[in-house]
Order: sequence, then structure tokens, then C-alpha cells
Amino acid sequence: MNRAIFLDRDGTLIVDKVYLADPDGVELIAGAADGLRRARSLGFKLFLLTNQSGIGRGLHSMEDTRRVNARMEELLGLPEPVFDGICVAPEAPEQPSPYRKPSPRYILETIAAHALDPAGCWMVGDSAADVGAALAAGIRAAAVRTGRVPPESLLEVAAGRVPVFADFGSFAAALR
Ligand SMILES: [Mg+2]
Repeated sequence: MNRAIFLDRDGTLIVDKVYLADPDGVELIAGAADGLRRARSLGFKLFLLTNQSGIGRGLHSMEDTRRVNARMEELLGLPEPVFDGICVAPEAPEQPSPYRKPSPRYILETIAAHALDPAGCWMVGDSAADVGAALAAGIRAAAVRTGRVPPESLLEVAAGRVPVFADFGSFAAALR
């Protein structure tokens, strides 16, 4: 069975510094590397899905985001490429955007392209957009406490429909 984890970046794998453009500002969240290693060892493919509206707002470039992603992969210290795919949604919220979360489009296209079993897939993130994308795509969602808002402020979490973990490492430790 092909299964995968879709990962938010800011507030999930690295500290959310808001419109991060400088690779020197990348700071891993504790447990991220171990969590990714464990997920891989269990046979999960890994996909990064990140909204970067700073690009659409003209605050930084796509190339800045690529450099930040590369620095994150370097700090993770895992065999590269760490991710089987990376999707950066560069639009600001008011701009038309096929891939900006909570759009499920990247998840749905990836499920089709990699013949993934939706029942075996997760999206892990710290925001309502992450949870929304997961549920719209028909996969499971998990929320982490390493973002800028408490997960309980998210509707689906408050309703008890989405499990909450201290961080991505704790989520991965619970995977079987
Ligand atoms: Mg986030």
C-alpha cells in the first residue's frame, strides 16, 4: 500500500518566522528530523506543501523560498532528497491560486500520480488551511502545537475531528 505524509513547513518543521526569506533564519523545530526519518522507515512518502504568500505580496522571491527549503533540508541531515515532492503556493490570499491551501489540489494530484491510498495518507500542519486541505482531499489531518496559534482555535480540532500532537516528532512516534 502506498501511503504518504503531506507536511506543512512553517510552524510544523521549522519555526514560523513569517515571510522567511533568509536561509540563515531557518530554525528546525525539535524532533522534526527524527520524525521524518521514522516516517520514511515506515514506508511513508513525504511531500512538502507550503503556502508562501510573501512571494505574491512582493516581499520575497520564489528563489528565496527555494533557498530556505534547501537550508531546511541541509539542517535535517537526512538522505536527500528529503521530500518526494515540494509544492510552493506563491499567491497572496486574494490572488487566484489552484494550489494554495486549503485547496486540496496538490494532495489530490499527488495521490493520483503516486497511486497513493488516501486512507493511508496524512496532512500534518499548524493551521486551519492545513486541516482544510486534508479534509477536502479525503485524507486524515493532524495538528501540531508548534505553530503560532493553539490548535484548539481551529474549528475541526475543537470539534474533536482532528488529533493534536505536541510536535511532528510526537505525531511520527505514534505512526504504525
Ligand atoms: Mg504553518
